[in-house]
Amino acid sequence: MGGHHGDHHDHDHDHDHGPDDSGSPLAEADLRVRALESLLVAKGYVDPAALDELIDTYQTRVGPRNGARVVARAWTDPDFRRRLREDATAAIASLGYGGRQGEHMVAVENTATVHNLVVCTLCSCYPWSVLGLPPAWYKSTPYRARAVRDPRGVLADFGLVLPPQTEIRVWDSTAEVRYLVIPQRPAGTETLDEDALAALVSRDAMIGTAVIVAPAPAA
Ligand code: FE
Repeated sequence: MGGHHGDHHDHDHDHDHGPDDSGSPLAEADLRVRALESLLVAKGYVDPAALDELIDTYQTRVGPRNGARVVARAWTDPDFRRRLREDATAAIASLGYGGRQGEHMVAVENTATVHNLVVCTLCSCYPWSVLGLPPAWYKSTPYRARAVRDPRGVLADFGLVLPPQTEIRVWDSTAEVRYLVIPQRPAGTETLDEDALAALVSRDAMIGTAVIVAPAPAA
């Protein structure tokens, strides 16, 4: 458990803080959006609740759809799956997803005996290119502190209780390496095409705090 944490790097590197982040186009855009938002809310043009819903849409729906496409392709195309495991950055870029915070991607695959969980213990490094905006809990101190120390407990808090024999591997994201969990394809999805499969893939399953359940059979 947690045996893979720290295997590939330590955190004694320039992390994704400071000038690099604050000067990024995204951070700048974020500031502009916030300023505009305050102005529009203050003038009564915009309902803050509607904005929250919009942000939630980008966090949970639009952004992670890229990752879901990657997962669905991996499930249906063995050659893509092999390329994804060998060089996730290139495989993901071949689907048109790349750019900042997605430069060095590593895909880790769940199996019947191994479950992968992604965290950034120092801050909130996250594969934006495939998952969009990180959820608030991903950036929270309890998640960052406990994911490594007690991954099984964290997963239980998310409602995911794994068999005791399942090995949990925790991957600590950094400025250099971002992880994408390839969840297990659920049974009963053999007849689904790539689009239908992608629709099943949740953001949390690609972080590792959830698994994907098979859809209920059509009535
Ligand atoms: Fe980080």
